[in-house]
Amino acid sequence: MLDRDLARRRFLVVIRKTAAVWAGKATGTLSRITGRGGGTTLPGDVARAIDPKILTRLAQDLTYGSVVITGTNGKTTTARLLSWLLEGAGHRVVSNRAGANLIFGATAAALNRAGTDGRLKADWGVFEIDEASLPKAAAEIQPRATLVLNLFRDQLDRYGELESIAKKIEQALSAQPETARAILNADDPRVAEIGLNLSHKPLWYGLDDTSVASKTLPHAADARTCPRCGSSLIFDAVYVGHDGVYRCPKGDFARPQPEITATDIMLDGFESIALSIDGTRIEMPLGGLYNCYNVLAAYAVARSIDLAPSYIAERLRTFKAAFGRQERIEFRGRHLVLVLSKNPAGFNETVRTAVELANGKHFVIGLNDRKADGTDVSWIWDVDFEQLRDHASLVIPAGVRAHDLAVRLKYAGVAAEAPQTDPGKALDLLIKSTSEGDTAYLLCTYTAMLDLRAELVRRGWASPYWET
Ligand SMILES: [Zn+2]
Repeated sequence: MLDRDLARRRFLVVIRKTAAVWAGKATGTLSRITGRGGGTTLPGDVARAIDPKILTRLAQDLTYGSVVITGTNGKTTTARLLSWLLEGAGHRVVSNRAGANLIFGATAAALNRAGTDGRLKADWGVFEIDEASLPKAAAEIQPRATLVLNLFRDQLDRYGELESIAKKIEQALSAQPETARAILNADDPRVAEIGLNLSHKPLWYGLDDTSVASKTLPHAADARTCPRCGSSLIFDAVYVGHDGVYRCPKGDFARPQPEITATDIMLDGFESIALSIDGTRIEMPLGGLYNCYNVLAAYAVARSIDLAPSYIAERLRTFKAAFGRQERIEFRGRHLVLVLSKNPAGFNETVRTAVELANGKHFVIGLNDRKADGTDVSWIWDVDFEQLRDHASLVIPAGVRAHDLAVRLKYAGVAAEAPQTDPGKALDLLIKSTSEGDTAYLLCTYTAMLDLRAELVRRGWASPYWET
């Protein structure tokens, strides 16, 4: 009798899982047919309504398991780097799409790859997850490794303070079994604080090349103080935002010694980076010091699952950046470089890369205030737009909040064009004000990027994102 009950319960679990998969897949198909975008999260909503444990059940189908990637900046690029490495080694990888990094997006991605028998047909899951969703996502996915890239101030209206996010991440990592690995950026004081509190030792990574460091923090750096005693941290090197080599003068907190380090870093605008990790030279068609962190992070995960260094270096040479992260589009003879820039730390780095490394002169800065951008745009006052002042010859403030941006640029002493809230008009002005052969840098928040890109698609200069 008991056996029959158990068999019946198991059967019901399978039926429910399969029904959830079918319903989710049907939702995805419908939303694509009716043209409501790429259908990135709705299928997840529907499937979870039918079987709340659907993500856990699908994740259990994976041959080797999952890697979850969180942090303020670099999730999409790092997830893509890791997927690229795994796919090149012959693995089937399921990963969530850019911008769909809440738990519904991860569920939808898993559904997308599930068969009609309700089973997920993949070897690895690579999921990018928003910091605030990590506890729930990690509990459901039970990843083999969790990567924490950095913690910068992002969209405060959505997440609250950095400290409370750090606490959430710490709780998520503490709740993991001993077999799950935490892979953490030692250069980020907030991430380090999380890792130092864990009972299982994390795998630390960090940059180790002061030739690309600055001595001072950006004026609005987030983590300036010791999380233990509140003293001002001393930075011996600053790489990106508040990420660098730091210590508390009272001696109770310092950057953990990283096991995996990047040295001999060479930067060439948005074109390429080169770095040595564990004696392996890696050259990549990606730009900016912040991408050295992404590459190093992906390398650390790849090493933790035993991919060979020589294979990693070879495979990374041919990597292509994710949609909108660093995309190059030819537009009426001009070279457009689209770079997602979504918070002070990210913006400071993309502006710095464009100005100092790429010698950029022409800019479209796009600012929107939709939910995915963060509805409070006051953070633009923490971006060092002053970097553009004596350097840029054309700056077009664009996006829904172009007027706010214009005010910020004025205070930064940047002679900007009239604000353009219409993406088509912003592009027209760009064409009018630049010559053929010029390169323009489009630094935009998420939906401002989508708007500009949609206009380029409409005019036939770019392909829709779900086809790239
Ligand atoms: Zn201290």
